[in-house]
Amino acid sequence: MEVLYKSTRDDSKTVQASQAILKGLSEDGGLFVPDHIPSLEKSLRELSDMEYREIAYEVMKLFLTDFTEQELKDCINKAYDSKFDTEEIAPLVEADHAYYLELFHGATIAFKDMALSILPHLMITSARKNHVEDEIVILTATSGDTGKAALAGFADVEGTKIIVFYPKNGVSPIQEKQMVTQKGNNTYVIGIHGNFDDAQTGVKQIFSDKDLEKEMKDRGFCFSSANSINIGRLVPQIVYYVYSYVKLLQEGKIEDGETINVVVPTGNFGNILAAFYAKNMGVPIDKLICASNENKVLYDFFRTGSYDRNRDFMLTSSPSMDILISSNLERLIYRIAENDAKKNAELMAALTREGSYHITEEMKVQLADFYGNYADEQETADRIKELYEKTGYIIDTHTAVASAVYQKYKAETGDGKKTVIASTASPFKFTRSVMNAIDAKYDSMSDFELVDELSGLANVKVPKAIEEIRSAPVIHDTICDKSKMKETVKEILGL
Ligand SMILES: *Cc1c(COP(=O)(O)O)cnc(C)c1O
Repeated sequence: MEVLYKSTRDDSKTVQASQAILKGLSEDGGLFVPDHIPSLEKSLRELSDMEYREIAYEVMKLFLTDFTEQELKDCINKAYDSKFDTEEIAPLVEADHAYYLELFHGATIAFKDMALSILPHLMITSARKNHVEDEIVILTATSGDTGKAALAGFADVEGTKIIVFYPKNGVSPIQEKQMVTQKGNNTYVIGIHGNFDDAQTGVKQIFSDKDLEKEMKDRGFCFSSANSINIGRLVPQIVYYVYSYVKLLQEGKIEDGETINVVVPTGNFGNILAAFYAKNMGVPIDKLICASNENKVLYDFFRTGSYDRNRDFMLTSSPSMDILISSNLERLIYRIAENDAKKNAELMAALTREGSYHITEEMKVQLADFYGNYADEQETADRIKELYEKTGYIIDTHTAVASAVYQKYKAETGDGKKTVIASTASPFKFTRSVMNAIDAKYDSMSDFELVDELSGLANVKVPKAIEEIRSAPVIHDTICDKSKMKETVKEILGL
């Protein structure tokens, strides 16, 4: 059955999946949502002898119904290939009575690779299907991680260019090195004199510049974004929750039909929403455990029904979760408002206006699938150390937030169901915080000394992504003032 997409703020119009992927965001500012969540066609038992790519096809074909079998399989095969350092794509590792779903085996050793390695292919396929002949120019502002994952995903994808702006003095040395050494003759990385907000604001201005849009169009270019609200990033994430259930079944860890819990370290609410969609497709998931760091807006929301961003922004050791506006939550709000776009639009307007909104009791009742909690900096570090000492397994800071929250959940509820914890980054990506958590003596070592030390402790080879940047030449050294971003883009495109 066909799935169409409508906006969370105006549901009078529908578009096909490929059009939603091309647009990213709806014109009214809303997010595209499927008009229904399809059920899995094959039983989980039937899926249990399939590999990751095959399961990806079984899941994604149900959402991207205007893609042909060939188109979708091509996208999947191009995305989940030797860029990943394991055939399994997303291994499931058992440690201390939980299963860690390692989503960090792609090009940039963080889970954003799972979606950003397929998005470029979904996008150019969508362009072709809709007779868009312009070259797609991806424009992104990044505080570090998304930029690199997007660069790696779009590098050398025909019919696209990618331009990434980052705050010259606002990302970690490893993050900067990862970006400025990016290969691919369609990639452009520019440091700006300014902070992340300046980069973000500059990109938004360029996107809404009508004159520039026309100039681009005349020369055969159009802009798009690799933003996490694109359904082309959401749908590929549903796959790994189906996959992890199927894996547990295959390995005899669970009975067919047995319910499991899922814990997700959450920032923008994309990953956990994908788990919610997987549950709605028929995967027997009981609780969706939403783990936050000290930026605990979501924990407060699940507890009180009030979403309130008016608070201090905390810089933590899990920076990819340092977020006060979780954009993808809007899709859940729309859903618990009984798909009432008007009601949702009112709440989102309140968020823009006042920085907060409050849901009704009826809406709150529908959040029963979710459990929210948070871990502070100390609890996060303690959990890394504890798990390492108990099992030898070393997790990154984001995964540690999830793991610490899971400990709290178990202590509070006594729920002993089998549980999958989304492991969203390799510990090698946040080496300093991880090693400091294990022992303060590591503090004096250099970044690359720590990498080797971690490799020894964890008994894990240094990932290629890290090995490469030790010696890789700097390819991108453009710096511009924050007021010159548009000129820089025009220069790159030869306008
Ligand atoms: C982006 C990110 C998250 C948060 O994921 P959302 O889908 O935004 O909730 C968690 N961990 C890591 C390592 C990330 O990069």
